[in-house]
Amino acid sequence: AEALLRQAQKMEALGQLTGGVAHDFNNLLQVIVGNLELLDRQLPEDAPRWRRSVSNAMEGANRAAILTQRLLAFSRLQPLNPKPIDVAQLSHGMFDILSRTLGQHLELAIRIDPDLWFAEADPHQLENAIVNLAVNAGHALVQGGTAIVSAHNVDAAASHAVVGLEPAQYVAICVSDTGTGMSPDILDRVFEPFFTTKDVGQGTGLGLSQVFGFAKQSRGHVKIDSIVGEGTTVTIYLPRSMDAPIEAFVATLKPTMKAA
Ligand code: ADP
Repeated sequence: AEALLRQAQKMEALGQLTGGVAHDFNNLLQVIVGNLELLDRQLPEDAPRWRRSVSNAMEGANRAAILTQRLLAFSRLQPLNPKPIDVAQLSHGMFDILSRTLGQHLELAIRIDPDLWFAEADPHQLENAIVNLAVNAGHALVQGGTAIVSAHNVDAAASHAVVGLEPAQYVAICVSDTGTGMSPDILDRVFEPFFTTKDVGQGTGLGLSQVFGFAKQSRGHVKIDSIVGEGTTVTIYLPRSMDAPIEAFVATLKPTMKAA
């Protein structure tokens, strides 16, 4: 409980700080990207080295843009827009993005219960959360292996068995990998903002804290089961929606999220 409180206080303080910085930084990035595009259009065809430099700069700027997006989402400046979600449709619609996120050498399976309920949450944020989890699964699968996105219903009785979950009906969305797994001391800290075991450029330490923030704001929960050497399952619980989705949800994330 103390660790959770510490985590919540950290999130609060960091949220306020990063929100302001990320917002201004994002505006500056737009200036950089705009000018790079202009430069790219004016370069002659027979200047491959200059083109490569411009495209390297552009790639760096795109990575920075993804980072600021994450920071903004984390600082809650991105408002949640909850609506009923057809998780089956959303997951299947993400197949291409997820396979590209994982890379060709890794297997991806999507397994959705046929009678899955609708969930109540912001579909774009859910999509973001699933991509974050897939990025982590890809990193954990250094030796190859499989990532599975699955979803099932959790009724009130089953929700009692999950520590930290208010008894109710939920849609559980799991991202599992057969990768490295986490030791208990790492598992203890994964929701802390900026906690990462990855090299600079590989990880920001914001993925899981973002997933945690999203689940909590959606009146849901996140659970992680992990065994070193066997793999990890991250489960997001989202409240069941009694309404059906109004519109079909179309996956909107670009495959460049892979770089995050
Ligand atoms: P990042 O991925 O940028 O490091 P996260 O908050 O997403 O930030 O994850 C924090 C840490 O948790 C990672 O650095 C890694 O050590 C561990 N982790 C997260 N997901 C997994 C996973 N699927 N398998 C093994 N370790 C993981």
